[in-house]
Parts: sequence; structure tokens; C-alpha cells
Amino acid sequence: MVKTKIPTSFKFDRIKTSNYNFGAHISTAGGISNAIYNAMDIGANSFALFLKSPRKWVSPMYKDEEVEKFHQLCEKFNYNPKTDILPHGSYFINLGNPDPEKEAKAYESFIDDLKRCEILGIGLYNFHPGSSLDGDHKESLVTLAKNINNAIKDTSFVKIVIENMAGHGNLIGSNLQDIKDVIDMIENKDRVGVCLDTCHSFAAGYDITTKEKFDAFLDEFDQLIGMKYLSGIHLNDSKAPLGANRDLHQKLGQGFLGLEIFRVIANCEKLKNVPIILETPVGKDDSVYGEEIKLLEWLEGKSIDDEEFIAKKEELWKLGEKDRKEQLEKFEDKVKKKRKAEKGQDITKIIKKTK
Ligand SMILES: [Zn+2]
Ligand SMILES: [Zn+2]
Repeated sequence: MVKTKIPTSFKFDRIKTSNYNFGAHISTAGGISNAIYNAMDIGANSFALFLKSPRKWVSPMYKDEEVEKFHQLCEKFNYNPKTDILPHGSYFINLGNPDPEKEAKAYESFIDDLKRCEILGIGLYNFHPGSSLDGDHKESLVTLAKNINNAIKDTSFVKIVIENMAGHGNLIGSNLQDIKDVIDMIENKDRVGVCLDTCHSFAAGYDITTKEKFDAFLDEFDQLIGMKYLSGIHLNDSKAPLGANRDLHQKLGQGFLGLEIFRVIANCEKLKNVPIILETPVGKDDSVYGEEIKLLEWLEGKSIDDEEFIAKKEELWKLGEKDRKEQLEKFEDKVKKKRKAEKGQDITKIIKKTK
């Protein structure tokens, strides 16, 4: 038994009566087991973390005492590592890389992450599906699926959860079709899942700003992929407008999504059993997450015409006004430039044709 000093008080109360697994991406500074204190401190019922430094290819493996402490604290504070923890893979892992050498390096880091999950007893692992870069997109999907199949064979229980993307460049998973195509190629479908990020979905062009639109999005997800694959939600507002293809997270209610969609999510039957993870920008102050979790719990049971809700929605909308204006201008500029470039191309085509 490792003796540890266990803190007795935390900044935010953890509400076990919430119908949802609200949580946030938290720091593991000082050791992986510190994640559990940090989760308790913000009153989280679920949490995400990095399994190793997301900026390095290789990190030393955990010490045995640290692993034991992690297990003890999960039990002590009632976090089920199979269902309540959704680690986030390193950003540079690209399993769809058309360069075989780089693909192999990515796979090595990916497997290392999955093994870390299994050592810690963690049942879910979320990662970015990567990019086809300058290669063929369909081929990249095949490469990605091959690597997921191999990873499932090389590990024993962790579920590999594919996150949807915001759609810039040649990113895989910016539309649901990509994710469906990959899952179709997975042999053991019990070991694969999907995480939907609200900011990424919106930035990729899925309008989810009202209950009707969000329901339609989930219906589309259900028909194309299947609700049973939904294994997590990343909860972020979006600093950039609809379809801007920018991965710019904003605090809840201050971005182009607005507070209504988070009220809808905090009352959505279909999301009751998955970790719902905040990745909103908090700087160095994690207590912002504590406040946002409290906000989400407050939204449970609120109706769209509730006066307090309307006041809160307007207050947060105002706070984000400057950021939204700035991003809207940037987006409109980009659209204008794109149109101009396209017009230019049309003209050269016409000139070529007439020659
Ligand atoms: Zn992510
Ligand atoms: Zn993001």
C-alpha cells in the first residue's frame, strides 16, 4: 500500500445527483495520479487527461507506485476508469500519414498511449484521426483503419474513440462519412467508438445551435454511424463562425454556438451515459472548469423560456461579443479572397479555352 496524504477539501462540490457525466480536461502535472485530485477540485464526474507529454514522442513509463496510487484514488473518489476517464491522444499522432516511416512512428506512440490506458485500467481512449496530407484521402482512411485494427489486436480492452474534426486542410473525420467509412473497415467493432466535439462539428459546417438542429445532427449520426458508437462529447463553444473550419474553442455561451445548445445538451436523454468533457480555454486557472460544470448542472431541467436562463444566455453572449466580431471579420475576409481567387481561375480557364 502506498501511503498518500489525501486532501480533505476541494474547491467545488461534486454533485452525484446530476444525470450527466460532466467533466473537463485536467492537468497531470506532478504525476498521473494528481489528475484525480484535480478532477475532484473542479467537481467533475468524468475527466480527460494526457497520458504523456503531448509534445514529445517518447516519455518514461509510469512508476509502479504511481500506478498503484492512481488505482487507489479512483476507487477512493469513486471514478470508474472504464467509463469516467476519456484520455486525449497526442496531437501529432497521424495514423493516416501517407509516408510509411512517419505512419510507423505514429503507430508506436499510439500503442504506447493505449498500453498506458490499460496499465491504469482506463477503458476509453480518444484521438484525432489525422490527415491525408498531400496523399489520397480514401487511401488514408484505409491506412487509419488498418492501424486501428492492428492496435485492437495488440491490446486487450481499451476502446479506441475517434474524434470528429473541424475540417481544415485534409483532416480526416471532419465529416461523419469519413468516420463511418473507417468504422466499416474495423473488424472488432466493440473496440471502436466516436467522440463528438461541439466546436469541431459547428466549425466543420454542422449547425447545432438549436434543439431541432442538434436533434437532426444526432439523427444523422445515428443513421450513418449508429448511436451505440457514441463514447464521449467534447463540450466547447466556437470562437469562429459556422463552417469556418477553425478549431478555436471558446467558453460556453460566449462563442457562435451560444448557451442554448449547452442547455439542450444538459437535457438530452441520449447523452446521459457518456463522459461530457469541457476543453474550453481556461488559461492556468482550472477553477473556470468548476464554474462551467456548475453552469451545466444548473442548466439541467431549465426550459428555453426560463427567465434566469435567458438572462444568463444574454450575459454570456455579451461577454463574447468582441471575439466573435474579430473572428467574423477574419472569416468574411477569407471568403472574399477565396471568391476572388476562384473568379481568377474561371477567367484563366476561359482564356485557355478561347486560345
Ligand atoms: Zn481533441
Ligand atoms: Zn478542438
